Amino acid sequence: MSTTHSLPEWAVAFHTHSCPYLAIGFRMGSLAMAALRFERQHNRGLLVLPEFGEGNPYTCIVDGIRAATGAIYGQIMIAKTFYGKLAATFFYPQRGGAIRYSLRPAFVDGLERLRFHALRVRGVDPSDMPSQVLEEALVWVDAQPDEAIFKIEHEVGFPYQQMELAYAKTLCARCGEYVMAPFVRVKEGRPLCIPCSYEGP
Ligand SMILES: [Zn+2]
Ligand SMILES: [Zn+2]
Repeated sequence: MSTTHSLPEWAVAFHTHSCPYLAIGFRMGSLAMAALRFERQHNRGLLVLPEFGEGNPYTCIVDGIRAATGAIYGQIMIAKTFYGKLAATFFYPQRGGAIRYSLRPAFVDGLERLRFHALRVRGVDPSDMPSQVLEEALVWVDAQPDEAIFKIEHEVGFPYQQMELAYAKTLCARCGEYVMAPFVRVKEGRPLCIPCSYEGP
């Protein structure tokens, strides 16, 4: 076993099943935390930008990242970019830095040669797989050195500005519900929420 960031049981409970993607995300998040000297109990300041998008099996990695970093959606600590790439950037302005971790193609190819992947392609959920198949994948991932899994790039001058919190809101002229100001759509002079703007005045 070559990693000091093996998947803990509580992260598996958080994700509801054990899978190698979760382990990869947990390791990625743990390495980023150490590199940026970010501690999990801090609940703001860190911004994680996972690039995985949706509709691919690698999205489980995002839960691994969330488990390791404590990045929560409610505080805008994590926001997907939907690039569909197997990577994530971790930005922690207090330390002045951003670090991007991407999965090396050779590592992904190796992972996809395992029985786990063959079953996953056939639509078998990790929780329905024989335990040896899952174990084989987890042991294989654990045995890969960090450098073999991740390409690591330190991003200098990362172009991100912390969003200002806005409280301004308007009543939608159609449904009567509040809409936060930046999301108001004006149609024929009436302020509307986005769903009502689709339906006309
Ligand atoms: Zn998973
Ligand atoms: Zn409305």
